[in-house]
Amino acid sequence: MSTPRNAVRAAVAIAPAPYPEETVEQAYSPTEIFARDVFSLRVMRERLPKEVFRRLEETCVNGQGLDDGDAGIVAGSMKDWAIERGATHFAHWFHPMTGVTAEKHDAFVSLDPVSGRLINEFSGKMLIKGESDASSLPSGGLRSTFEARGYTAWDPSSPVFLLENSRGARTLYVPTVFLSYTGESLDRKTPLLRSLNAISAQALRVLRLFGNTRATRVNVMVGAEQEYFLVDRRYYALRDDLKLAGRTLFGARPGKGQELEDHYFGTIGRRVLGFMAEVEERLLALGIPARTRHNESAPAQFELAPMFETANLATDHNMLTMETLRGTAEKHGFACLLHEKPFAGVNGSGKHNNWSLCDSEGNNLLDPGDTPLDNAQFLVFLAAVLMAARKHALALRLATVGAGNDHRLGSSEAPPAIISVFLGEQLTEIIAGIAEGKPGRGKSGLDTGAMRVGVSSLPPLPRDATDRNRTSPFAFTGNKFEFRAVGASQSIAPANIALNTAVAAVLDDLATELEEAVRGGEDLSKAVHALLARSFMESLPVVFNGNNYAPEWHEDAARRGLTDLRDSVSVIYRYSDREVLDLFSRHGVLTEREQLARQEILFDNYIVDVHIETKLVSSIGRSVILPASLRWLKKLGGAARLARELGAPGPAVEEDLYRRARGHIVGLLESLDRLDARHKALDALKEKEGSGKRAEASRDELIPLMVECRKHADALETMVDDDIWPLPKYNELLW
Ligand code: ADP
Ligand code: MG
Repeated sequence: MSTPRNAVRAAVAIAPAPYPEETVEQAYSPTEIFARDVFSLRVMRERLPKEVFRRLEETCVNGQGLDDGDAGIVAGSMKDWAIERGATHFAHWFHPMTGVTAEKHDAFVSLDPVSGRLINEFSGKMLIKGESDASSLPSGGLRSTFEARGYTAWDPSSPVFLLENSRGARTLYVPTVFLSYTGESLDRKTPLLRSLNAISAQALRVLRLFGNTRATRVNVMVGAEQEYFLVDRRYYALRDDLKLAGRTLFGARPGKGQELEDHYFGTIGRRVLGFMAEVEERLLALGIPARTRHNESAPAQFELAPMFETANLATDHNMLTMETLRGTAEKHGFACLLHEKPFAGVNGSGKHNNWSLCDSEGNNLLDPGDTPLDNAQFLVFLAAVLMAARKHALALRLATVGAGNDHRLGSSEAPPAIISVFLGEQLTEIIAGIAEGKPGRGKSGLDTGAMRVGVSSLPPLPRDATDRNRTSPFAFTGNKFEFRAVGASQSIAPANIALNTAVAAVLDDLATELEEAVRGGEDLSKAVHALLARSFMESLPVVFNGNNYAPEWHEDAARRGLTDLRDSVSVIYRYSDREVLDLFSRHGVLTEREQLARQEILFDNYIVDVHIETKLVSSIGRSVILPASLRWLKKLGGAARLARELGAPGPAVEEDLYRRARGHIVGLLESLDRLDARHKALDALKEKEGSGKRAEASRDELIPLMVECRKHADALETMVDDDIWPLPKYNELLW
């Protein structure tokens, strides 16, 4: 008796790739197709009346509203552009708290009541505001069912774009915020936009102190490196755990792991390259500047990196990138896995959120610069980021919570749950020198303490030397910070909301202090020096240039007073800490009510993730693994009986095999029974207990029981006849 798995195995061996050959061969010109499907500023300039365009451009840059008359003109022009390109519908596209994007489609038509004919219509009102019932999207209690309506509103700083369905018809996507009827945020875009305004306002105050009167805004620039796995879709189809939970809940370790490190930057196979080329083509058409592609360290793992853009666009674009990866993979006979840990024992996937500040004149504020004054300004921004990581570590840690990321953070493949900053030896010497104010020479021969900020300039920092610590959660890499704790499937919005708000809060304090000093007649350079010395002294404990994977780091971090919250539930509890609530509400990023709602949603998302996995472990364990194992047990029993009947000499090996297999079958069954019983009990708690308690119980009871089930199932996988085993194995999925 053969299994579907074996049939798939045979099919894969004969025909390696069920994908259309022509897509691989097509060449395209990146510069020609870039932003082809975007109603970009360039298109607007061409198509809109000059005055309207000027006002819209201002809106895009400064985030103010558009008046109704202009909105009508813009909407009309968008509609014509979209219909010329085959669009039939438009959709308000938003980022609810589910982790994926949501959209509601409407046709561009309305019925003319007089003539009874359909006419094309897309008014300014339809562009700017949409109503959506959306009562099943998470609100964390911000909406009771009687006022379930929410509304979506266009975010003009992110341009509208076209996506195609499988019949070639297109839809005009309008990026929007998503708010409750009372105006509270139910999404991830609203607080991101608010945080961008907060950091711009505070950073401008610092620039003004340093004599910059030209900059009108400070933008956050973000480039998100995205890791993912590709597996053959035919194997994937046989694994309900991959399909429904995004990760394997069973599976013995393969004979060959990633020990050889032969995959990292290795040659990319032809089939994968074809897939990547199509992904890039689609992304470029959407105006997403995809640039780098390579193999990652685990087998079947890859990475895609775009060029950096403003944070709001980069966030929308990362969501689109994830969707494009998934969709294109399907077409090429792959499944793209974005889960943080699809395979136990194999490195998981993350996202590196590269983050910097850039003024409206194009100057990177995290670039040390060439003059003493530039250096002093750079050091103030550096001090702000360090202090943000020191004081608001909890807010940063909160940005990466999730049941999936718990499998990855801190397991010697991804940064630990401790927030620390890597600066590199040279820069650390410089700031330590300023903090201690002692003249002297550092290890690298730098004249550290003697440096007078604003008088002497920083030595040039060799960029490469600062970029080779891959274990740090937050690393300074020459002219930007790289936040590496985000999970591969997560939106980068929370990470950027937290970074922007935390740095804005510190900049606010620093600017206030400097403004007061200057107003009091103090010399700026002196005031800056004093402020930096104190600030660096206080934030030095957060700087760590060593190996973040080392077990000793946890003790060292505790001595430095850094928080080390290893699991999501413990972190989510801390969302309601006064310091966190105050941070976000003081800067108008999230009200206290919005934050408490978010805490509720995060708990709920955690519970849902764990409960889905529990149900899958139970159903796959009972209906797939147990039956196959029992079939094998029957054969072993037959062999053992036969050996006894025939009086086979020597030790009873067949009986031994039978006993061992039976031991794990009994073990699996008992663990499954316990798992189901606990799951049922927790489900019954629903109404009585708060979501925190239920999340805790899911973590403490269900997860260990799932591990227990898996232990027996994986042991059976290595015993049961390969011909009978029903699930594709790690070897097949990964190699
Ligand atoms: P890595 O060595 O980590 O692979 P890269 O130099 O390839 O890093 O850059 C990774 C990402 O950082 C890219 O998306 C890139 O666009 C982005 N990046 C580069 N400079 C900046 C910057 N100043 N601000 C924000 N992101 C940046
Ligand atoms: Mg990186």
